[in-house]
Amino acid sequence: MWKLKQTLLEDLFEASNKYYPDEFMCFLSGNKKTKTIEEIVFLPNNSGNNFASIWEGVIPLDDTILGSVHSHPTGRASPSSADKHFFLKYELNLIISLSENKIGFFDNTGKQIDVEIL
Ligand SMILES: [Zn+2]
Repeated sequence: MWKLKQTLLEDLFEASNKYYPDEFMCFLSGNKKTKTIEEIVFLPNNSGNNFASIWEGVIPLDDTILGSVHSHPTGRASPSSADKHFFLKYELNLIISLSENKIGFFDNTGKQIDVEIL
């Protein structure tokens, strides 16, 4: 099971709130061997009221990026069809729902997965 630090989660909520009512997007890196998410990676991206997109040219080609994060300012903590398409690239995807004050983790197929909060 992937593990995520509580402090990191708090930072993600804080950033999502800062971007409200726009979507916030960032990426996660960490230790693949211990399956621990350790860092937030910010890459230049476009975000608006109901979307967040990234130009793939800015994503590092090595395996630094373990997963994706984006917020749903008003939506639920479940992936849209566009989200599911985007999730294909990463084995770990986090949605932060501000309206529900809830998070959801999904694998690359869009299936909900459990993550341990440290
Ligand atoms: Zn979404």
